[in-house]
This record gives sequence, structure tokens and C-alpha cells, in this order.
Amino acid sequence: MENDERPKSFIRNLIDEDLAEKRYPAVLTRFPPEPNGYLHIGHAKSICLNFTLARDYGGRCNMRFDDTNPVREDVEYVDSILEDVRWLGFDWGEHLHYASDYFDRLYECALALIKSGHAYVCDLSPEEVREYRGTLTEPGRESPWRNRGVDENLDLFARMKNGEFAEGAKFLRARIDMASPNLNMRDPALYRIKRAPHHRTGDKWVVYPMYDYTHCISDAIEGVSHSVCTLEFEDHRPLYDWVLEKLDWPRPRPRQIEFARLNLEHTLMSKRKLLQLVRERRVSGWDDPRLPTLAALRRRGVTPEAVRLFCERIGVAKKDSWIELEWLERAVRDDLNPRVKRVMAVVDPLKVVLENLNTEEALVFQAPYFPDEPGRMGHRDVPLTREIYIERDDFMLSPSKDFFRLAPGRQARLRWGGFIRCREAAVDSEGRVVELRAVFQPEPFEQEPGERRPAVIHWVSANKSVPAEVRLYDRLLKAPRPAGDLESELNPDSLVVRSGARLEKSLASAEPGERYQFERLGYFYLEPGSPPDAPVYNRIVTLKDGWARTAKAARTPPGNAGGPRGEKRAGTGRKPPGQPEPEKPEK
Ligand code: ATP
Ligand code: MG
Repeated sequence: MENDERPKSFIRNLIDEDLAEKRYPAVLTRFPPEPNGYLHIGHAKSICLNFTLARDYGGRCNMRFDDTNPVREDVEYVDSILEDVRWLGFDWGEHLHYASDYFDRLYECALALIKSGHAYVCDLSPEEVREYRGTLTEPGRESPWRNRGVDENLDLFARMKNGEFAEGAKFLRARIDMASPNLNMRDPALYRIKRAPHHRTGDKWVVYPMYDYTHCISDAIEGVSHSVCTLEFEDHRPLYDWVLEKLDWPRPRPRQIEFARLNLEHTLMSKRKLLQLVRERRVSGWDDPRLPTLAALRRRGVTPEAVRLFCERIGVAKKDSWIELEWLERAVRDDLNPRVKRVMAVVDPLKVVLENLNTEEALVFQAPYFPDEPGRMGHRDVPLTREIYIERDDFMLSPSKDFFRLAPGRQARLRWGGFIRCREAAVDSEGRVVELRAVFQPEPFEQEPGERRPAVIHWVSANKSVPAEVRLYDRLLKAPRPAGDLESELNPDSLVVRSGARLEKSLASAEPGERYQFERLGYFYLEPGSPPDAPVYNRIVTLKDGWARTAKAARTPPGNAGGPRGEKRAGTGRKPPGQPEPEKPEK
């Protein structure tokens, strides 16, 4: 392999063995979504895995829609899935396929299985099928229709296809073993009657092949070498192999390999539940930035590079596990950190009048866009005027013991802009602070006895700043691992809209789609399509793990025995929510 830095995984070991034994001429994988919902970050794991395996082994990855259930599927989903895979940065070239392209071939295969005595038409009702199936501890019973002759089966199957029977009246099933300890092998269904138009084949078919039967044959038709899927299919593998064996499919046949699906804490991966959130309007749509869908991550401002970095860091394992949301957040930060400008914005403004400045003039400070390397992204002018805004929670009227920022009588340092000392606070009838009065000077005020070094706070000029709406996102679910009851598990604070936010003047010329770090607040994305006079900024991620649990945050994720590479273990300390901290120690 070209890149020896790449983490070894059990899948790569199996492929290496197969290639050493010359079982396959080349590595061919596929990504096989069912077009019944939008892709989420779990799918991204599978996409990255399949496409990078193909790339690293000089092979190919096919894009294939597993579209065998017309009732749940839709072109809207096909289009969104293709867009998302492309956005993630992968290219299937000419190889966009649909299981429905193989319906004729699949039908012929079914005829072959009937002729060889490996499939039969069964008249049991769905309830009877359940009764006959048996349990994990008891064998099933054979269907009374199991020993129909080949000619009768051929005739009935043709009539099923011609629409002579009602849905559920008959189905085609494999003739395997009703006593098998593996329930999937107890004469599983191969074809069922469904009177639903298909998004590609229209009304041509009223019988549709089952997933298990379709998948192995589709893989085999395309010449897939390694059919990588999630663990729940492990017990289906004997059926996968059985179908190709009974069809006497030429070798080499595809090999199914299972890996652990991604479970990400504080969110949901089930398409059914995501669909429910969308339908019940608990979120604004499939791309609501609180969701784990790729469309949502994109709209929130997460880059495809960050998603790929996350997938690479979590690796692949053979055992199911949960990944902490911090892994995703850290990948997002590590991706954005070196590439975005630092600017100032105040999301919850509190006005401060600098009494010793006059109204006409503005002092102008030069501030580097990338303070770590001031030469790298240039500078901008930051005007200071008599009235400025600071963040409401950078001030406390009666400061608690652990609050070191602005308070009556205290001084603070304005980022890039000198010092203020607060003289007094105006309070309204409800006790809410409405305005501060302070004095300004370029140099620090003399420290009073017992006074700490002034804290650094961010700010903007009141009349030389631009208004914006800022959307602050938090985790979708309160508990890390949902128990199942959506209603009670949704985090009511997952979205906080700050419609009165103010941005520093330089952002008047920001372009939709641009990302910035708002100092002390996080990384933000100017949402494409938001109106120029009322820009909407989404918070992509905060600057630190607000919820980090010290010990857990530094833990190695499963499936990546060597631990994350290039990972910064910053921000493992706990910080009370709502109290932004500067990214670096205050100077
Ligand atoms: P459903 O929830 O309807 O069962 P699904 O999430 O399995 O659907 P598919 O469209 O069948 O969705 O998935 C396409 C591919 O993505 C499959 O190979 C599947 O194994 C993989 N995949 C789905 N969810 C995850 C996940 N959470 N982690 C890793 N891979 C996943
Ligand atoms: Mg599935």
C-alpha cells in the first residue's frame, strides 16, 4: 500500500490476505444506501470506509441504490444522497447503479432457484409465517406449500408477477431449513407482492425482491470483491452466501465483511426517527443544523474535510460502541483552526458608554486576522467609539467569587483596544442591567490593592458595527444515549437565536459561505442564502469542550487501537456552560 501511515484495520488485514491469496483481481467496494431518507454521519463512516478502501488499493467504489421497497423510497432522497456523497469528496465515476436496474436479472435468478428446487411459492399469511417460524430456542415448522412441484411454482410465480394475486396472498421463499438455528435461514422470503409504483421502473413490477436476496446478487453482478456492511448483517451472511452458491455463481464471489456502525452520543442515527422529527416539525427540515444529517452539517458550516477527519480518527471496529460527540467537535475545530480569520462579534450586547471619549471621533486599532501568525491573513481596522457593546455575561453587578471579568469599579482589557474601568451600571425596574458607564484609556489603569490582572473581553463599536442574527446550536438530545422516548429526550435548548447580535465592521463585506472564528465564542458560518442586510450566522462549534468530562475526553476511541493521530488534547477541563473563555490564556 502507498501510505504506511494509514491505520491498519481488521478489514484491511482481510483484504491483504485475499490479495495475497489472489482471490480477487482487484478491490471493488460499493456504497449501497436505500433512498428512504437523508444520509447522516453514520453513513459518512460507511462512505469514507468504502471509498478510501477502493482508493488505497487502487480499486473502485460503486455508488448503488438499494431501491427494492417502492413504498418508502423517493427521488428526493436519491438526489440528496448523490449530492451528499459528492460533497464529502467522493466520486463514483461512471458507476452509478440501482438495484432496480437488475430487476429482470433478479427475476431470472428466482426462476433458476425455483427450477433447482431451492425456492417455492408459499400461501401462508404474514401471521401464519410468524407462527411457523419458531423461536430462537424452538425450530420452525415447514410450510404446507413447501413441497409444491417445480411447474406449479413456476406457474404461480409468473402469475404473481402478472398481478393475479393480492398483496400478501402469496410470496416466494427460499427452501433452506426450518430447523436452522439461524432464523434468517428458515425459508426466508425472496419476493413479495407490492402494488406500488417504483421511482424508476414505474408500474412494470408488482413483485419486488427482498433486500437480502437482492444485495448479494447486485454485488455479484457488479463484480464487488468486498461487500462491507454493518454488524447487524452478520447473521445474514449465511443467506448471502447461500443464494450465490445455489445460483452456482462463477467465482470469485463477493465476500461480506461486517463492521460496527457508528453510534454518536447525544444524537440519533435512525432514519425512521429522523424522519419523525422532520414530519412532526420538531426541526426545520432534514437540513436543520441540529441534526446529524450531512445536509445539516453542511448547512451548519462543517466542512467535508472535518467529517472525513472524524471518520478517519474513529476508525473501524468489529464491536458496537458509542462515540462521544466531542470527537466530532474536535475534528471540526482542528479542521477550522488553521484556516479561518479571527474577528469580534457580540451575540448578547450590553451597551457601555465610554464617558471620556467624544461622540464624533473614533479611535482605530489594527488587529491581525490570525493572531498566532500575524502576517498570515493580514489585518483589519477595528474602530473604538464612545459607545460600544460588550457581551452581557462578561459583566456582573455583584460578582461571584469566581467571576473575574467586568463589574462596577473593575477594569477590563478590550481585545486589541486598550482598557476600560466600569464606573456604574444603569439598572431598569426589573433589576436588569441596561447600560454601563466607564472610562477608557490606552494603558492599564493603576491596579488597586487586591485587584487582579484585568480580564480580556471582546467588544464592538455600537454605531460602527453590523447587525446580524446568530444561531447557537447545542446537542439534540439531553442524554448521551437515548432510551427511545423522543418527546422527553429532546434538548429544549438545542437552538438559541440571538437576533440582536452585532458584528465588527469588517464583517459588513463578509460573503455567504464564509467561516470565521468569533473570538471567545466559537466558529461561525455565514449561511448561504441569508439576506445581505440581515445576515444569519450559524455557530458551527464552540472553542472548547463545554461538556467535556475530563477523563473521558482523552480516551482512545474503539477501533483505533493506536489512538487518534495529530489529535490535540485541548479543552478537557470543565467550563460552566454560558461562560465563554478566551481560546488562549488571557494576556
Ligand atoms: P435503516 O435505518 O433504514 O435501516 P440504514 O441506516 O441502514 O437504514 P442504508 O441506506 O441501508 O441505511 O445504509 C446504507 C449503508 O450505510 C449501509 O451499508 C449501512 O450499513 C451503512 N450505515 C448505515 N448506518 C450506519 C451507521 N450508523 N454507521 C455506519 N454505517 C452505517
Ligand atoms: Mg439498511
